Amino acid sequence: MPIIDSHLHFVGDHAESVALLEKLDIQLLNICVNAGGGINWRAREGDAYRKLIKAHPGRYLWCTTFELPAEGEDVAAYGRRVIEAVDQDVADGAIACKVWKNVGMDFKRADGTYVMVDDAVFEPLFAHLEKAGIPLLMHIGEPMACWRPIEEYSPHQSYYKTYPQWHMYGRTDVPDHAANMRARDNVVARHPKLHCIGAHLGSLEYSLAEMAKRFDAYANFAVDTSARIGDLAYADRDELIAFLEKYQDRVMFGTDVVFRQPHSTMTAAERAEKLAAYESNVNRHLKFFGTDEVMTIANKEVRGVKLPKRIFEKVFFENVLRWYPGVGRQRGSGV
Ligand SMILES: [Zn+2]
Repeated sequence: MPIIDSHLHFVGDHAESVALLEKLDIQLLNICVNAGGGINWRAREGDAYRKLIKAHPGRYLWCTTFELPAEGEDVAAYGRRVIEAVDQDVADGAIACKVWKNVGMDFKRADGTYVMVDDAVFEPLFAHLEKAGIPLLMHIGEPMACWRPIEEYSPHQSYYKTYPQWHMYGRTDVPDHAANMRARDNVVARHPKLHCIGAHLGSLEYSLAEMAKRFDAYANFAVDTSARIGDLAYADRDELIAFLEKYQDRVMFGTDVVFRQPHSTMTAAERAEKLAAYESNVNRHLKFFGTDEVMTIANKEVRGVKLPKRIFEKVFFENVLRWYPGVGRQRGSGV
């Protein structure tokens, strides 16, 4: 059965990388991240993803992103600038556009105020995406662990130890989790025809009920599981099964594996290690969602949820086609 990994960063430009994808019968949606900080995201990954879909049609897809506004930039002029760039990327095969968590948590105006994702400055772009049928992948906010003491165990503990600048426990000067969720929900509500995909379980990994609330309120909202299988392992198994049954059209498989270094520039040993890690990551997801075997995820012994075949196929394939219609166009045309 073909599957799609709907969220990762994987410059698999080597024949061995492509051979693994063939073996797994998997297609990858590579995601661009504009992390700011003077890093040129096109040079870092965008150009590579664009080239991969041409070199290996049927194995790779890509999701672009956009530049943030310059200080004092006119809203209409900024809108035109980013719309033009996104349209060019879509002409170059991009099937979606991503907004990252620096919007709402890091990006500020000169007066010190944070620019939230529902700020008027992004409206022309979001309205355009809605009209053009281009989905918006939204990584807004962080897991709740971001606002909890670092000593408290969570599947995200090691991330915040590695990147303390993103750990917000005790910080009152940065918009909190609720403020970011509110801003995200505002965008989803304002654009009912825009496909809004909440990356990383929409930063609602701590509560199936909070996710359910959004699904009930917004028909245009879905989530990917990327980098959050650990949180699902900590959910109540029966509740998770009922949740996936009820919201079977809203959840998409993604790993969020980050292998941005072009595989062709790795040594054979490095590449073999990375590819083995990717394969086992995919297999862990297949096992967790597709079987009732016992496994260890994020230091927890957990039994797989063994989704019925019909739902399993949605999570690993059909939902991605539905929420990212460009996938189907590319599969259909062989582009
Ligand atoms: Zn990611």
